[in-house]
Amino acid sequence: MTTSSLRLLAPVSGQVLPLTTVPDPVFAQKMVGDGIAIDPTSEVLLAPCDGEITLLHPAHHAVTLKTDSGAEIILHIGIDTVQLKGKGFTPKVKLGDRVSAGQELIAFDADFIAQNAKSLITLMVIAGDAQLTLQAVTLAKAGTDVLIELVDEAATAAGAKDAPVNSTSAVSQKVRVQLTTGFHARPAARLVNQAKSYSSQIDICKDSQGAVRSSNIKSVVGILGLEIAFGDEVYLRAQGGDAERAVTELATFLSGLTESSAEAGHAADSKKLVMPASKPLDIRSGVFSGLAISPGYLIGHIQQFRTQEIQVSEQAENTPAEEQRLLDSALAQSRLELESLAEKMNAKMDASDAAIFSMHRDLLDDPELALASAADIARGKSAAFSWHRAYQAQAETLANLQSEVLSGRAIDVRDVGRRVLKALLHGSQVSTKSTGSTKKNVILIADTLTPSDLAQLDLQSVVAICTTSGGATSHVAIMARSMGLAAIAGLNGQILELPDDTEVLVDANRGEFRLSPTSLEKAEVARLQLETNKKRSVALSHAQAQAVTRDGKRIDVAANIGSVSDAIKAVELGADGVGLLRSEFLFLERDTAPSEDEQLEIYQAIATALGGRHLVIRTLDVGGDKPLKYLPIDPEENPFLGIRGIRIGLLYQEILRSQLRAILRVRSEGRLHVMFPMIATVEEFRQAKAILEEERLKLGVAQISVGVMIEVPSAALIADVLAKEADFFSIGTNDLTQYTLAMDRGHKDLAQHADALHPSVLKLIGMTCRAAKAHGKWVGVCGGLAGELEAVGVLIGLGVDELSVSVPSIPLVKERVREMDLVSSHLLAQLVLEAQGSEEVREHLARGSGMRPEPPTDPTSTSTSEMNHAYKLQIRREAQDVHIQ
Ligand code: PEP
Ligand code: MG
Repeated sequence: MTTSSLRLLAPVSGQVLPLTTVPDPVFAQKMVGDGIAIDPTSEVLLAPCDGEITLLHPAHHAVTLKTDSGAEIILHIGIDTVQLKGKGFTPKVKLGDRVSAGQELIAFDADFIAQNAKSLITLMVIAGDAQLTLQAVTLAKAGTDVLIELVDEAATAAGAKDAPVNSTSAVSQKVRVQLTTGFHARPAARLVNQAKSYSSQIDICKDSQGAVRSSNIKSVVGILGLEIAFGDEVYLRAQGGDAERAVTELATFLSGLTESSAEAGHAADSKKLVMPASKPLDIRSGVFSGLAISPGYLIGHIQQFRTQEIQVSEQAENTPAEEQRLLDSALAQSRLELESLAEKMNAKMDASDAAIFSMHRDLLDDPELALASAADIARGKSAAFSWHRAYQAQAETLANLQSEVLSGRAIDVRDVGRRVLKALLHGSQVSTKSTGSTKKNVILIADTLTPSDLAQLDLQSVVAICTTSGGATSHVAIMARSMGLAAIAGLNGQILELPDDTEVLVDANRGEFRLSPTSLEKAEVARLQLETNKKRSVALSHAQAQAVTRDGKRIDVAANIGSVSDAIKAVELGADGVGLLRSEFLFLERDTAPSEDEQLEIYQAIATALGGRHLVIRTLDVGGDKPLKYLPIDPEENPFLGIRGIRIGLLYQEILRSQLRAILRVRSEGRLHVMFPMIATVEEFRQAKAILEEERLKLGVAQISVGVMIEVPSAALIADVLAKEADFFSIGTNDLTQYTLAMDRGHKDLAQHADALHPSVLKLIGMTCRAAKAHGKWVGVCGGLAGELEAVGVLIGLGVDELSVSVPSIPLVKERVREMDLVSSHLLAQLVLEAQGSEEVREHLARGSGMRPEPPTDPTSTSTSEMNHAYKLQIRREAQDVHIQ
């Protein structure tokens, strides 16, 4: 084996110092690697050897040079100079440039840096644990004196072909990010967890406008700070004993990382959010507008929820080792608290809230937080001060990010930070906020609320939360919705000045907050509340009864489910069956597709839980927007118009075939149906049906009913063609609306306009029903519109036979059907089809929702009996129309 050495020249002139004297523990403890420090007397950083610029920090204070042999030389001007945000530095090279020894890399203003940063000391560090020899130079001349001799790894490796893979060389790999909403806290936490099992130093890097930004992959906040979006290309770079394995495995993990089903649920929730039409009015008018983040309409009394400033003393009373121990035990206590909170939420079947606290727990392990606080503690600062400074700095970084979702995570970092601080100060000085109240109908007002604040609220007294910060995607919004708390965010700061006990009306359906409600408004709120409670309890008491209109038309009210436990709950709440089993829940968040037997087990358990009720299983509906790691679909410009729904099944037939075999093998007391999602053409349906038939013949089992999901306008427009070949239709109004109106169903600004009650969508539903009826087939609606109570009449009137809704809505929808009258509903449907827009449709629905009008009994009429007769005739004629339809 031959070895050769690489000589590194001084990058700046000045006094050479050992790395251990640098006032920064990360460098002083050689966590990044070994090297030297120089107190500079020159003002230009020079390349110490030939190589390529692989990293130029956006703040221009640091650069990494990669030699031909693969060594990475980090050159870092000053300490804490990243905070200067580029001021005082002029780069002379750019990312990817090849440079030769002695070439100018960055010019810097030494006076400015000395005055504005912690230190001007400049570092030359070789990443990883390279073998190097420091030369005995005390006063270096830039570009001339050799300061370090490094064993040339390339030469070493070339001479030792049979030797094991070099354990310290840097390895890197590119990955394209498939997360549709980019990197937010939960996927970041999952990546961090995955990365923790490797000992190597691993960075995740993103090329951003010519400069590379990177973060330790074990830091959630660091990853968030890179603002990685869907489709971004990032690369993983590792150095250490298990670098190669780490990079390969993490790249696979990262490329397969997708939105979790829980998050898909949140996206659906956020569809219901209403943006305020105009920004806040002022205190004189007594009306404030904000963002409606969790619905509710109520009256209550204000209670201000104030954050106490936390006082911590800067200097430590103990040795650094003792302060570090105190911080470690506060972190351990907080970990336990958060784990138990997550468990509590899980026990309440509240998976999304549990995930929030698990993410908080992961934040506690963030290495950047640990390093920053350890550095301050090492300098004699108290544990509380060091921790406070570290988490506040991270929260600031996040708060300044452009993405609303990521900047919202600053609240999470502060929340976790305060929790640890509280543990550190034994709760004595941090009484956080006044959370409790013995009063009823409390409306909590705050600048910001954290998930921990919400977890502590007494729901017997607090009914609404109103904040000046926050957004629809915040964790507090998610929690408020699942806790049934009305919530408005983004209100004018003037609400913080309002005295406690002020009476207000909170209309969280519209994002409005009003002072001094009138007695009329109070009476209206009381009436509505009473009505809602009564309706709910009446609906629950009739949940098991059939839903039949007043004139005798039976409507099936079925459930949309994703699991066996949903099926059990649906039966409890009176579901007539399952109109949509979203089978994709079995396929998400896995490394491989579920096997045929695994699927059979779950479908069978659902069918069994349903007893004799019918079950409609939709085949896998994923695609470009929800990629699966075992289906290598290239990123698409327009994923909603790409390979999704049935297109996946036809492209990856083995997946479709194995799912169909599993469905065909289910033994069910009730009727079993299969349906194909996103059918746009009759050819797609024929192909899918042919595959089903092939598998059925192979298994030698009986035929099952086969349906088409009507989610694409083209399918509705050729419903007459499809109706000849399908056994039933199920209308997916969520997708049908987004494709008809060309409005992304998850778009934060468009969702409010993507209204399924638009006449264009209703016309397509009507066409579908007419075509089905002409061929004796039945039609269900399984999109969100089926669960909107005001839409029940119009859907029945258009000819829908089944409404498949979310499990909690079943009793209310059934009750609504019982209030309907087929004839009036049909009239109403005809009326709304003539409307110009969804607003007009809603106006019609508000006036008459398909309930049977009372016969006229006008006392001034000359002949009441004559009018009653005319009325009856009209009803009879219309009834005939309905049956002819
Ligand atoms: C729909 O599009 O209305 C539907 C029911 O399917 P999903 O919401 O699962 O796309
Ligand atoms: Mg759909």
